[in-house]
Amino acid sequence: MQFLIEHSSTIYIIVIFIFLINNLGNAFLGRWLAAEKHRDSTAWFWICLFLGIPALLVLGLSQTIDIRKIAHRINESITPDMSVTWECPRCSIKNPNNLYTCKECGYKLA
Ligand SMILES: [Zn+2]
Repeated sequence: MQFLIEHSSTIYIIVIFIFLINNLGNAFLGRWLAAEKHRDSTAWFWICLFLGIPALLVLGLSQTIDIRKIAHRINESITPDMSVTWECPRCSIKNPNNLYTCKECGYKLA
């Protein structure tokens, strides 16, 4: 009887250990995947840590966020001021000074 109790608690610890390693693996995988898809990697780290495989599936099937599309949307809402311009260091397009992101490639000014 004593042997059985000791044995089962060892299995219990091993199961918890595997569970933790597995969830941490999911969390780091989620963080990497989110970064690849231009999504919030910190948020997805925690979501994948607690929800595991289903969260990874949702993230994996979700669309990659198109930075250019977002930049375009932001730029369209701003009236361009071409009196002062800045040149994009990535694509050397001239952008109006009141734009925070490049209208061509989405480059973000620091
Ligand atoms: Zn650019």
